Amino acid sequence: MSSVNTAIQLSVRGASAASTCGTDLAKGPWEFDLAAALDGVPGYGPGASVADPAPPSTPRQAQIPQEYKDASAEELDARIIAAKAALGDRAVVLGHFYQRDEVIKYADFVGDSFQLANAAKSKPDAEAIIFCGVHFMAETADMLSGPDQKVILPNLAAGCSMADMADIASVEACWAQLEEVYGPMDAVDAEGKVPVIPVTYMNSSAALKGFCGEHGGIVCTSSNAKTVLEWAFQRGQRVLFFPDQHLGRNTAKAMGVPLEQMPMWSPRKPLGGNDPESLEQARVILWHGFCSVHKRFSVAQIDKARAEFPGVRVIVHPECPMPVVDAADEAGSTDYIVKAIQAAPAGSTFAIGTEINLVNRLAAEYPEHTIFCLDPVICPCSTMYRIHPGYLAWVLEALLEGEVQNQITVPEQVTVPARIALERMLAAKP
Ligand code: SF4
Repeated sequence: MSSVNTAIQLSVRGASAASTCGTDLAKGPWEFDLAAALDGVPGYGPGASVADPAPPSTPRQAQIPQEYKDASAEELDARIIAAKAALGDRAVVLGHFYQRDEVIKYADFVGDSFQLANAAKSKPDAEAIIFCGVHFMAETADMLSGPDQKVILPNLAAGCSMADMADIASVEACWAQLEEVYGPMDAVDAEGKVPVIPVTYMNSSAALKGFCGEHGGIVCTSSNAKTVLEWAFQRGQRVLFFPDQHLGRNTAKAMGVPLEQMPMWSPRKPLGGNDPESLEQARVILWHGFCSVHKRFSVAQIDKARAEFPGVRVIVHPECPMPVVDAADEAGSTDYIVKAIQAAPAGSTFAIGTEINLVNRLAAEYPEHTIFCLDPVICPCSTMYRIHPGYLAWVLEALLEGEVQNQITVPEQVTVPARIALERMLAAKP
């Protein structure tokens, strides 16, 4: 089975019948880094998040030396292998599940964002951690790694459009407005509960994790969101959940919270677009954020899969919209999806609702099953796509020369409270 990137190249050349969500996907990511630098407007580039507005603070990537852009795939392969061998244990390469095959093949560890942050911790002697994922993941790795370890993001433009939908200024403004409605945020009711517990998804900036640490809140992943919400409801009358409305809604709904008690907070509207009464009744206030990769999945795609493959097992990620999760057989994190496929009897058929690079790789790794992506259009995560072997070769060879390119550093005043929120998550028990 060819890689997602090869399938894109064939499609754009007209050499296959597959369709992609944009012909620009066939270009080198440096073309978008250059465009962002020239017109001053940062963007997420081609892929699922192409139409999402990128805030002005979105990091940009300077141009890498021409030799890395001109090098053939074979030359880059030889250079990356040689640089890794020369660096040995000095550097560890981490690859997220959604990363392209042409990069993931060099990863010492492959996993979801939290697994990779822990993998970084397991290599305390590595002086450099090269994170082939997106910006918030590199931040988490920096906060959990040793003080002398340097975390490197090969392309700084590899952000996350969902994480960018909640910034610290908007969350602080929201908190101040909620305080006007609920009164002092540290006042407890007869049950000893404060008015609101902030909960941030792992897919958020370090600043938001720090905000949660400072305000009695916590971090969650897509694997432990239910446990974390239970933790929060033991301590608060309500939860403010950001940035992903879908994970918050799907999780709270499965726990029995009525939809009418889950108002949406739109950061640009007064009171988030709500009236004080609905906020008073709220159990979970959902931030207006979403993942454009998982927003592409639909109930119609599930219906089509069931019609074409009777008995198909449909598993979607909980970042998908609620009707999609309701129509699927199961919803679970990337780790859940991988384990479900590993445990299935040979000959099983799976329709999967998550990022195409992971689905494609699983289909190749488990040929005894039939595995396909619910979305027939090839549309990878725009920001994972910004990591290309050229950038990986550049940061590795720079390390050999004693230069650290693209280091991600979280300030200590953010790291300290963010670690508190992360530690609360690790201590939360089902
Ligand atoms: S898949 Fe969605 S949440 Fe994950 S990095 Fe891409 S845009 Fe962000």
